[in-house]
Amino acid sequence: MSLHSYQKILIITAPSGAGKTSITHYLMQQFPQLAFSVSAATRSARGSEKEGVDYYFITEAAFQQKIKNKEFAEWEMVYQGKYYGTLKSELERIWNNQQVPVLDIDVKGAIHVQNQYPVNTLSIFIEPPSVEELKKRLLSRGTETDESLAARVNKASYEISFKAHFDEVIVNDQLDKACAAAHRLVSAFLEKPLETVESAD
Ligand code: 5GP
Repeated sequence: MSLHSYQKILIITAPSGAGKTSITHYLMQQFPQLAFSVSAATRSARGSEKEGVDYYFITEAAFQQKIKNKEFAEWEMVYQGKYYGTLKSELERIWNNQQVPVLDIDVKGAIHVQNQYPVNTLSIFIEPPSVEELKKRLLSRGTETDESLAARVNKASYEISFKAHFDEVIVNDQLDKACAAAHRLVSAFLEKPLETVESAD
């Protein structure tokens, strides 16, 4: 047996449309210790997205190779045929900078990361006030077809059923209140000393 020390990880997860991105941006502005963990993804860049800032945009073949090489802390096919994953090298890069990685990832990916990094990880689930409200928000973005709206709403209901797996749940009824709640949780998390665990080796 020996003592194993894990570095800190902050996970922000939510169904799409719950306001996860706004809360993540807010936290990044408030806490300079946080660094956004840039995921690898096989979808193409949208609008103003930049390589190495929003994602590492890679081909499916390159993604499969990284799975084989065990380079991912977790990966998921988030949408049909589109892969997303957190690279272990990205976590190491951030830890080596004495910062705490912030993972904006889907619910299943978040559960995997929690299982792999069982201590010193804070997971926050952002919950939409209701599925009706989520529908309204997605409609007001104006980017959904009837079909994709229905798919996202179904996926959201499914994802909400996992909320008990996370350390904290914040209902995003009003964005400023949700940000304040997230601020309190993250502030306490960053101040907490690192825990060590015993591992058999
Ligand atoms: P988008 O294509 O809209 O940028 O992201 C789609 C979804 O993929 C979002 O819910 C986002 O949080 C999730 N996502 C982004 N990166 C990762 C990742 O590395 N792993 C997992 N599991 N999900 C991710």
